[in-house]
Amino acid sequence: MEIGRMPYHWPKDTDFALLELDVLDRDCPFCGRMMHICDHRYRHLHTLEGPVEMVCKLNHCPDTSCPGHAKTKSPEVEITIALPKMAIGWDVFCWIGHRRYSRHWSITQIESELWDDYGIKISADSIGRYVQRYQVMLAARQEDPKVLRRQYKSVDEIILSIDGLQPEKGHETLYVVRELTQKRVWFGEALISGTADEVLPLIVKAKKWAESLNKKVALWLSDRQDAFVTGIAAEFPDVPHRYCDNHFLRDVAKPVLEADSHAKVQMRKKVRGLRKIEQAVRKRQRVEAEAVAANDAEPTKAAAVPEGSPAAPAVEVNPVGAVVLDYCAAVRGILNDDQGGPLHPPGLRMAEALNEVCESIQRNLDEKKGGSQRSNSTVWQAVSTEVSTKFGPNKRRSEATSKTSRKSRRHSIPLAGTARIARSSSSN
Ligand SMILES: [Zn+2]
Repeated sequence: MEIGRMPYHWPKDTDFALLELDVLDRDCPFCGRMMHICDHRYRHLHTLEGPVEMVCKLNHCPDTSCPGHAKTKSPEVEITIALPKMAIGWDVFCWIGHRRYSRHWSITQIESELWDDYGIKISADSIGRYVQRYQVMLAARQEDPKVLRRQYKSVDEIILSIDGLQPEKGHETLYVVRELTQKRVWFGEALISGTADEVLPLIVKAKKWAESLNKKVALWLSDRQDAFVTGIAAEFPDVPHRYCDNHFLRDVAKPVLEADSHAKVQMRKKVRGLRKIEQAVRKRQRVEAEAVAANDAEPTKAAAVPEGSPAAPAVEVNPVGAVVLDYCAAVRGILNDDQGGPLHPPGLRMAEALNEVCESIQRNLDEKKGGSQRSNSTVWQAVSTEVSTKFGPNKRRSEATSKTSRKSRRHSIPLAGTARIARSSSSN
C-alpha cells in the first residue's frame, strides 16, 4: 500500500525541531568492520509536539570489496518515530486512528481538530489513507497469535459466540466470531448470503484458533440460526450451543406477542360502537342547541360563543355530552395504541388502559348516586381531563410522564370543553 502519494508541502517558514539520528550498531553485518557515515537523509514530519526535521545518518562498510559497502544502514530508531514515507509520526498516526475507531469521529472532524489543536494541516485524502493503514495494522495485531497466546495464558476455558450484523438491508452481512471470557473480537468476515457453506469456514477457523491456543471451548452462543447449528455441531460435536440472552428473549417473546396480538383483536371486537355513540351525542347536542337558539331571546349569549369551535354551543347546552365524547376519544386512542415490547406487550397495555377507563366510569357513576349536581360536574371535569390527558392523541407519551401530567393538569389546565362544563353547570 502506498501512503502519502503526494509529497507533503511544508510552508517556507516552518519552524522545525531538529532530530539527529545515529546508527547504534555500527558493526558491518557482513564483515564486522566499523561502518562509516556515508550520507544524510532528511525527513520532515508532523508530531503532536510540532514539526520535526529528522536527520538520518546513513552508514556503510568502508571496505569497497565488502557487500556491506553497497548497502546503507539507516538509524534503528527511525522506525520507532515514524513509518517510512509518512509525513506524520506514530503519535499523530495513533491519534488519528484512535479518534476514528474509538471515538467514531469523521475524517473531516479529525482534519479540523488536528488543525485547531495541533496546527497540523493534513488533507482529508491523506487522513483517509492513514485510517486505512491503521485499520490493517489493528486487524493484524488483533489476530497476532503471539499476542493472543499471551492474553489467553491464564484462561482455562473459552466461550465463543457468532452473530451476523447487517447494517443495511440487502447488503452483505458481517459475521463476527467473538470470545466472551476476554471480551475479544476474534475475527469477522462479510458474507453475502450466510448459508451453511459460507458460515462453516468461520467455525472451522475458530476451531483452529482454539486449538492453537490449546484451550477447551466450554460453550458456543448464538441466535441458533440453522447455519450456526449445523456448523457448530459438525466442528464442535461435544460443545453445548446455547441461545444468547438477547436472542432468547426475542424468540421467547414471539409466541407471547402472537397471543397478545390475538387478545388485542378480541378486545377490539368487544369495545366497539364508538362512532354510533359519538353520532348520537352530537345529534342530541345539535337539537338542543337549536332549541336553545330558538327560545333564547338574548342575542348576546349566542355572540359570546367563539367562532370556529363547533362543539361550543352544544356544550353550553349539554355538558355530559362533551364528557362522553372525551371518553370516546380516549378509548379510540387506546384501541389504536401499538406501542410496547416483549416485556410489556401492546395487548397488555390495552387491557390495562381499558380497565382504567372502566374504573373511571364506575367512579363517576358512584359519585352521581351520592353527590349533588354541582359536585358531580367537578368530578366529571377531573375525570374527563384525566382520561384525555392519559390516553389522548399523543400515543408516545410514556407511562411515567402521563402520570405526572395527569396530576399537574387535572385541575390547573382543564380541557376547553370541560372548563365550559364547569362554568355552565355552576350557573345552573
Ligand atoms: Zn563490511
